[in-house]
Amino acid sequence: MAKILDGRVVRDKFAADLKRKIAKLDQKPTLAIVQIGNLAQSSAYIRQKKLFGEKIGAKVTHLKFSATIAQSKLIKVIEKLNKDRRIDGIIIQLPIPRHLNKSEIIETILPEKDVDGLHSKNVKKLWTGEDDGLIGATPRGILNLIKYYRIPIRGKRAVVVGRSALVGRPTAALLLKEGATITTAHRQTKDLAAQTRQADLLVVAAGVPNLIGSRHVKKGQVIVDVGINLIAGRPSSKKNKKITKLQEEISAPKMVGDVDFKNVSKIVKAISPVPGGVGPMTVAALFQNLVETNMRKIEKGNKRIKRNR
Ligand code: NAD
Repeated sequence: MAKILDGRVVRDKFAADLKRKIAKLDQKPTLAIVQIGNLAQSSAYIRQKKLFGEKIGAKVTHLKFSATIAQSKLIKVIEKLNKDRRIDGIIIQLPIPRHLNKSEIIETILPEKDVDGLHSKNVKKLWTGEDDGLIGATPRGILNLIKYYRIPIRGKRAVVVGRSALVGRPTAALLLKEGATITTAHRQTKDLAAQTRQADLLVVAAGVPNLIGSRHVKKGQVIVDVGINLIAGRPSSKKNKKITKLQEEISAPKMVGDVDFKNVSKIVKAISPVPGGVGPMTVAALFQNLVETNMRKIEKGNKRIKRNR
């Protein structure tokens, strides 16, 4: 049985560390989350962020707008948050309605407050290997998990399945920066198993349940499963129309990753579970970004004061 890369344990350690750091700060780091519309999954993610923020002593401001908000109004909201010195980080909770221009919205966020690491200046810094950019919470969380368990990266072959701007691409860039040799696989990749079997470290972020099974892996590999998929639980018996509470629980949606955990974990060296792997690490990394933006702001302010003396 593989070693479990337990994201909850690591998240709790990060939470304790962040709490200690925040306690020493004069001003509580503040995150602004902009939500457009009312997607249930987005609301659930925001709730998690608020809870984590509360736990470590950071402030989370939740700004909610109708799904029909105009682009120009949203841009004004972001510009106001950019100017507000109390706000250290800004997140646009994705996905957003189709009538909005996502790229223009993200480019409006000040790169120094872009705690999701999506602004082109931060993306460029990540790919050019500069250290002072902001890295998205999921890729940073993945790296934190890998490093916590002392999994070697330098000189190793890493395969990332998925090439989204939010997860696949920045994770590949980050592992490249850490010295791995990278392959990025995606929907158009031919013979996925031939690619994934080459990996020392396999990161899967496709959003497809059971995409990676026994034939995609080999002994000695480390697997990080980023996928979050809600699948229907076992359906309740049609014969018995009276649904008991237990049956309701059985048929409730179940969260699974992209990896067939049951079979793959019998083969590989280490694996992150879903839930309890990358998910908790993502929230922690977001607040790591936030605390750092707050500290940089204070540092910058102190330098300015010294110069003006
Ligand atoms: P996305 O839909 O934007 O991208 C999916 C990627 O997977 C695409 O690049 C696509 O080419 C690739 N892909 C899809 N089917 C494939 C196949 N059959 N073979 C090979 N590649 C395939 O999704 P995303 O935003 O990158 O998220 C990916 C998954 O990670 C989702 O399940 C999402 O919910 C999850 N996620 C988890 C966290 C977390 O904190 N754990 C954070 C963000 C996203």
